[in-house]
Amino acid sequence: MSRAYNFSAGPATLPEPVLQQARDEMLDWHGAGASIVELSHRGPEFMQVAAEAAEDLRTLLSIPDDYVVLFPAGGATTQQALIPLNFATPGQRADYVLTGHWGKTAIKQVKPYVDAHVAASSEADGFRSIPARDDWSLSKDAAYVHVTANETIHGVEFREIPDVGNAPLIADFSSSIASEPVDISRFGMVYGGAQKNLGPVGISFVILRPDLLERAGQPRADIFDYRSQAAKGSMLNTPPTWNWYLLGLTVKWMLAEGGVAEFAQRSARKAALLYGAIDGSGGFYRNEVDVAVRSRMNVPFFLHDDALDKPFLDEARAAGLISLKGHRALGGMRASLYNAMPEAGVEALTGFMGEFQQRHG
Ligand code: PMP
Repeated sequence: MSRAYNFSAGPATLPEPVLQQARDEMLDWHGAGASIVELSHRGPEFMQVAAEAAEDLRTLLSIPDDYVVLFPAGGATTQQALIPLNFATPGQRADYVLTGHWGKTAIKQVKPYVDAHVAASSEADGFRSIPARDDWSLSKDAAYVHVTANETIHGVEFREIPDVGNAPLIADFSSSIASEPVDISRFGMVYGGAQKNLGPVGISFVILRPDLLERAGQPRADIFDYRSQAAKGSMLNTPPTWNWYLLGLTVKWMLAEGGVAEFAQRSARKAALLYGAIDGSGGFYRNEVDVAVRSRMNVPFFLHDDALDKPFLDEARAAGLISLKGHRALGGMRASLYNAMPEAGVEALTGFMGEFQQRHG
């Protein structure tokens, strides 16, 4: 069976060479006589895999030497809850800039722990824009300011995350990490689930400025403590070794392909092609996001008549284009264009969209 072009928002398509290498190494990792997933996380084999993944991620993202890199088990939502436990005192004010569904999730997670203040929100216009920095009402004593770099469902992405003053800037980069160069030194914390641009679901990345680890935070179990996790190299307990291994292979692949500068160019070309097809369709397809903040990673779009949704999805699948159904919160379609989606996949999608319009227009 041949592989389809998979536009899933996450878990998402992985680079084919990564899957092939994982297959080839499945039964015997580098002569160890066992799969990497069968070996102790404290043994030399996995320790090497783990260390290389961290080093390679540092190289890929140009992470400053003094920043801490963690690979916690689980997803981004867990990190959202851990942020106030580690970096805010009980009930302290924390600022949230709300630009979509995942910003709301972030607030929901912290409600028991901090006074989450919505410093700016585009909810009134259905999260189709990003409030101008001049309209943000940041608090004087916020423990931190939280933003979502790319809203995976609403398809809204900061082109430049504004300066927020003295409070540490914490950004959820789940769905856009490694898609373009980012100056990590501007952030107190960059985090996300790996299952879009960095590999498989089940593991997260957390990049921390060291001074944040000096904060007392609030009462929490050791397992929820970033300082303890940092001291133990994210291995306070058994880490998700298989996911870590796949993440490592994915990062190596990105480095071999030319790194984030290369992926920024590819992403720009892919996004331009798809938005061009939507905008050039004379209203047969439409995207409703403010053009200035349209996501390069997740492109939600609608057909002019939703009775065509099912035929579109069925015919797309028959043409080898899968996972295009939009999130249930928005309906319509969504195409995710992560790093592992080849440009040929977007060309196939836009070609199909043109043909579909001719047949049904
Ligand atoms: N933030 C963003 C931007 C996301 O896209 C997602 C998942 N799609 C999450 C947070 C939640 O991640 P997880 O499911 O890994 O907890």
